[in-house]
Amino acid sequence: AQRYVPSTSNTSLIVGVRVRPLLKSEQTKSNRKDIIRVIDGKVVVVLDPDESKDYLDQVQHRTKERRYTFDVAFDFQSTNREVYDMTLRDLVSAVLYGINTTVFAYGATGSGKTYTMVGSPNDPGLMILSLQQVFQDRDRLFRDEEFSVTCTYLEVYNETIYDLLVKNSGPLELREDPEQGVQVAGLKHVPVSTPDDILGLLEDGNRRRKTEATDANSASSRSHAVLEILVKRKPLNHYRVQQLRAKLSLVDLAGSERAAETNNAGQKLRDGASINRSLLALANCINALGKMAAGAKAGANYVPYRNSKLTRLLKDGLSGNSRTAMITTVAAANDQYHHSINTLKYADRAK
Ligand code: ADP
Ligand code: MG
Repeated sequence: AQRYVPSTSNTSLIVGVRVRPLLKSEQTKSNRKDIIRVIDGKVVVVLDPDESKDYLDQVQHRTKERRYTFDVAFDFQSTNREVYDMTLRDLVSAVLYGINTTVFAYGATGSGKTYTMVGSPNDPGLMILSLQQVFQDRDRLFRDEEFSVTCTYLEVYNETIYDLLVKNSGPLELREDPEQGVQVAGLKHVPVSTPDDILGLLEDGNRRRKTEATDANSASSRSHAVLEILVKRKPLNHYRVQQLRAKLSLVDLAGSERAAETNNAGQKLRDGASINRSLLALANCINALGKMAAGAKAGANYVPYRNSKLTRLLKDGLSGNSRTAMITTVAAANDQYHHSINTLKYADRAK
């Protein structure tokens, strides 16, 4: 299939959507069918879950069919490598020139966020592919320079930060340092010298997340996992030798059903017991950033970073001269219709 290649230059926010296929376990259930199509690599069509399947060619308008257009959309045949190449590749190159970058996986529990971000040894996800590219670029372009890469991996759970790189981490405090920017006191920083170093760290870290279960009510659906890759280098060819440093943050967000009340991401979102405060604050920040990127004036000059742990933590990578990519994941199965629509609406408003 022909794919759309988004222009990443001068774009501060890229929104992509990835559709995951029916799993084997879903295929065997009766009445379970695939209701999402991708057209031209950027249009996502959600069919009416109550209609029979093959009507897309015959009928233009059905009451519950929805269409959304994004910078790029990936159907169920896409690989992590393809998603990476079309969304992140150029952004990761820019990190080596000092541009902070933040990437989110946003979607309902079970829609493929962790699959996309972490992946498996056979199909490494965006976290690993990013790090591979950092080292490839180093070897190709900056071989003789001072160059260092450090990683941290943490979890935001119930508005509390825990280190995923140590056993039994206690709660950690956020500090804002005028020189260094946002810091998490006591967080373990691991120097990384090859991409392989990170796989083991991520696996250990993921085992430490509050739970591995994919049940929508489980704790894992409420936790945000944040990998930060800090890159520093000292260009040799500058007469004034100055260190370049930038942070690439990759975030496996809590399940988007936690923000289901977000019917209009442009409105001030309400707090509630079952709603994830960080997810809502992020929605409000991304919405404000989207408006700024679009050049809108009214009400867009204030980005509410302070409202949650996650947005405070990510502030440096969301503000100023930084780049953001949101990879939205949806499951194609008909029983996920409402989750998919809510997720796509959210992503649509972020554009
Ligand atoms: P989430 O992190 O959003 O809760 P997961 O990434 O754990 O969801 O995915 C849920 C299940 O779907 C897992 O079994 C995963 O292997 C599978 N899966 C997710 N995305 C894909 C995909 N694009 N292709 C095939 N299987 C997928
Ligand atoms: Mg997950």
